Amino acid sequence: MSVGVLAGKVALVTGAGSGIGRATCRLLARDGAKVIAVDRNLKAAQETVQELGSNRSAALEVDVSSAQSVQSSVAEALKKFQQAPTIVVNSAGITRDGYLLKMPERDYDDVYGVNLKGTFLVTQAYAKAMIEQKLENGTIVNLSSIVAKMNNVGQANYAATKAGVISFTEVASKEFGKFGIRVNCILPGYIDTPMVAVVPDSVKQQVVQRCPLGRLGQPEEIAEVIAFLASPQSSYVNGAAIEVTGGLK
Ligand code: NAD
Repeated sequence: MSVGVLAGKVALVTGAGSGIGRATCRLLARDGAKVIAVDRNLKAAQETVQELGSNRSAALEVDVSSAQSVQSSVAEALKKFQQAPTIVVNSAGITRDGYLLKMPERDYDDVYGVNLKGTFLVTQAYAKAMIEQKLENGTIVNLSSIVAKMNNVGQANYAATKAGVISFTEVASKEFGKFGIRVNCILPGYIDTPMVAVVPDSVKQQVVQRCPLGRLGQPEEIAEVIAFLASPQSSYVNGAAIEVTGGLK
C-alpha cells in the first residue's frame, strides 16, 4: 500500500498486542493512520505502541467479549485523537480446540464470546460512533479464517465462529453501505503467529504440504490486505470475504 494514503485517519485494531493485529498496526501507521491498539493484554498493546511511537498511537485495555468493556472504550478511544476511528479491524481471536464429544461448554462459550460476539460488539459500538459523528468512508475489516471452509476435526467451536464472521460481515455490509461504511472480511490460511505456535508440528507439516506456496504465511502478508481494505484504494470492495492462504483450500 502507499505511504501516506491513510493520513488524517484514526484506526482501531483489536488483538493489537500480537500476531496479525500487531502487524496491522504497523502497516496502518506506515500508511499514515493514527492507531489505537486494543487488547485485553494491556502490556502487549503497550509494546505495540512503543514500537510505533506514542504521538501516533495509543493503547487501550479492552475485553472485546464484554459489552461493558467495549462500550466504555468508545469514549476513551475518541479522547485519544479527538476523533472517532473510521478504520476498525477486528483481529482479537482465540482457539480452544477439542473433539466435540469432550468439548467443555466453557470452551465453546469463550471462543464464541471473543471471535463472534466480540466482532459484533466492537462493530456495533464503533459503527454507531462513526454514524453519530457523521464520519464518512468508514471501513471495518473482520478476521474470519480458512477454517470456516476447511471445517477441521477438533475445531467445531472455532470453525463455527469464523463461518459466522463471514455471514455477519455480509449483513453488516448491507446495513452500513448507506452510511458510507464498508465491511469486509479476510480468511487467512495458517499464519506464523503465537496462535499457530501451539499447533503440533505434524499438523503444520501437513498444512505446508497442502499449501501450493509450500509455507506458512507471515502476519504482514495478511496486514497488507487489511491495509488495502482500510484504504480508499478499495472503495468499491464491500461485503467481500477474501482468502489469503497461499492457495490452501
Ligand atoms: P494471536 O494469538 O497472535 O493474537 C490474538 C490477540 O488477541 C492477542 O494479543 C490476545 O491477547 C488478543 N485477545 C484475545 N482475546 C481477547 C479479548 N477478549 N479482548 C481483546 N483482545 C483479545 O492471534 P493471530 O494469529 O494474530 O490471530 C488474529 C486473528 O486472525 C484471530 O481472529 C484469528 O482467529 C485470525 N486468524 C489467524 C490465523 C493464523 O493462522 N494465525 C488464521 C486464520 C485466522
